[in-house]
Amino acid sequence: MLREFEIFAEALPDPLLLVSSDRKVVGSNAAARHFFAGEPFRKDPLRGDFVTLLRDPEAIACVRDVLAGGDRKSARIMLPVPIRLTLELHAAGLPIGDSGATGALVLLRNISDIVESDKVRNDFVANVSHELRSPLTVLSGLIETLQTQARRDSQNWPRLLSIMGSEASRMVRLVDDLLALSRVTAREHQQPTGTVCLQEVLRDTLTALGDMIAKENRTLRIVQPDEDCLVAGDRDELRQVFRNLIENAFKYGRADSEVLVTIEKVERISGSGDSGYAFAVADQGEGIAAEDIPRLTERFYRVDKSRSREKGGTGLGLAIVKHVVKRHRGRLTILSEIGKGSCFAVQIPVRQDHGDYPVSG
Ligand code: ADP
Repeated sequence: MLREFEIFAEALPDPLLLVSSDRKVVGSNAAARHFFAGEPFRKDPLRGDFVTLLRDPEAIACVRDVLAGGDRKSARIMLPVPIRLTLELHAAGLPIGDSGATGALVLLRNISDIVESDKVRNDFVANVSHELRSPLTVLSGLIETLQTQARRDSQNWPRLLSIMGSEASRMVRLVDDLLALSRVTAREHQQPTGTVCLQEVLRDTLTALGDMIAKENRTLRIVQPDEDCLVAGDRDELRQVFRNLIENAFKYGRADSEVLVTIEKVERISGSGDSGYAFAVADQGEGIAAEDIPRLTERFYRVDKSRSREKGGTGLGLAIVKHVVKRHRGRLTILSEIGKGSCFAVQIPVRQDHGDYPVSG
C-alpha cells in the first residue's frame, strides 16, 4: 500500500511535501522537487526545515497547527518577490515513522495563472465600462439639454445632434472592436484554412479607407510585387489588420509626410522555419518611446490618451492585430524612433499547397 501511495504521490502534478514532527521535510514528489529547484527558490526541498523552504508566516502557521494536532489547514499565500507567485497550501496531519508521531502532508497548488487571468478579466471589464461611460454621460447630458433649455432653441439642435452622433459612433466603434477581439481570441487556436491574396486585401482596405486617406494630408506610397502573394489566412481578419495599421499611420503620422506600405516575400519568418510574406506600414510620425513599444498591443493601452480619443481611436486596434497575427501563426514587429516615425510589420506564412483550399472571403 505504501509503495502504491509513493507511486501515486510521485505522479501528482502538484508539489507534495511530507513534513516530520520536528518540521523537517522528509519526503517530496517530483513536482515539488521541480517547483523548488526553479526561481525564486533554487532549493532542494529535502534539505532542512520547512520554515526555510517557504518563508511565509501563514504557511508556517498552517504546518505548525497541523503538527500540534490540528486536523487540516489551508492558506492562500503570496510571494511577491522576485517573481510574483500565488500558492494555495493544504496541510493535513498524518502519523509518520515507526513512532507514529504526527507529521504533515503539505500540498501546494500554484494558482498564479488563475489569479493573473482573473485580474486581467476584472481590469478589462473596468476598462470597457469606463470607455462606454464617457460617451454615455455626454449623450444623456445632451438629451437632458434638448428636453429642457434647448427645447425651443432649434438653432442649437444641429450642433447638439452632431455631438450626439459622434459620441454614438464612438460607442459603435468600441463595440465593433470588442466583438472583433472576442471573435478572434475565441478561435485563436484554429489556424485559418483559406487562401488569401495580400494585394487584394490591400486594394479592398484602401477602397474602404478612401475618404479618410483623401481627407488627411499625407502621401501614400505602395511597393508590392507583381505576382500574387498568397498566404494561409482569413480575409476579413487580414483586412482588419491592414486597416488598423494603415489607419494608425495616418492618425499618428505628421501632416504632409509619407506613409509607405510594402508587401514583400520573406524567406524565413522570424522564430519559425516557414517562408511567407511581410506586410509593413511605415509612417513619418512622432515615433514611440522604447518603453511603450512592448505595451502597445495591450487592450486599451494608449501612449497619448487624448490624441487617440480625438482621432476616434478605441485603444483596441493593435490588440486585434496581435491576436489575428497569432491566429495566423505569424509575427508582428514594431520598430520606432522618436522624432522619425514607426514601422509596423506583419509576417504571415505562405500557403504551402495553394489551390487545394477554398479562397476565404
Ligand atoms: P488607438 O485606437 O488608440 O489608435 P491602437 O491599439 O491602434 O489604439 O494603438 C494603441 C496606441 O499605440 C495608440 O493610442 C497610439 O498611442 C500608439 N500608436 C499606434 N500606432 C502608432 C503609430 N503609427 N505612431 C505612433 N503611435 C502609434
